[in-house]
Amino acid sequence: MGCIFCKIISKQIPAKIIQETSHSIAFLDAFPLVKGHTLIIPKNHHMKIQDLNHEENSDLFSLVHKVLSKVDKLTGSTLVAVHNGKDAGQEVPHVHVHLVPRAQGDSAGPIHTMFKTIKFSDSEIEEIYNKLK
Ligand code: 5GP
Ligand code: ZN
Repeated sequence: MGCIFCKIISKQIPAKIIQETSHSIAFLDAFPLVKGHTLIIPKNHHMKIQDLNHEENSDLFSLVHKVLSKVDKLTGSTLVAVHNGKDAGQEVPHVHVHLVPRAQGDSAGPIHTMFKTIKFSDSEIEEIYNKLK
């Protein structure tokens, strides 16, 4: 399979690995948005978080929790992000959690700056709420 992250796991291509567990691995992003930009991935190839089994999911997010405590010390604030699916901006189709250190005056903003402002009617909100609850 041509997955770049699977090749990192099998050590076919090098990466700056920070920590590894039975089901997950944390390493530096090769094209960092800022210094310390880290990725945490499951060792098994899955595209989306909901494809992980319970054990893989627990292991992944417990490694996120551990590595976050180190990354967060770099600037005191961290963006934790997952692009869960192609249309969400996922370029590598293997689950990965981004840890991106944030700082005052960096070039990024709050989540609402990612989208143009759109207003929804009460009925539209009610409809989606009924689907989700
Ligand atoms: P996405 O856009 O799918 O959310 O994020 C993919 C991330 O993988 C990007 O931040 C990109 O810089 C990183 N990336 C792509 N190829 C490689 C690689 O070969 N090695 C490492 N360490 N990171 C990579
Ligand atoms: Zn993969």
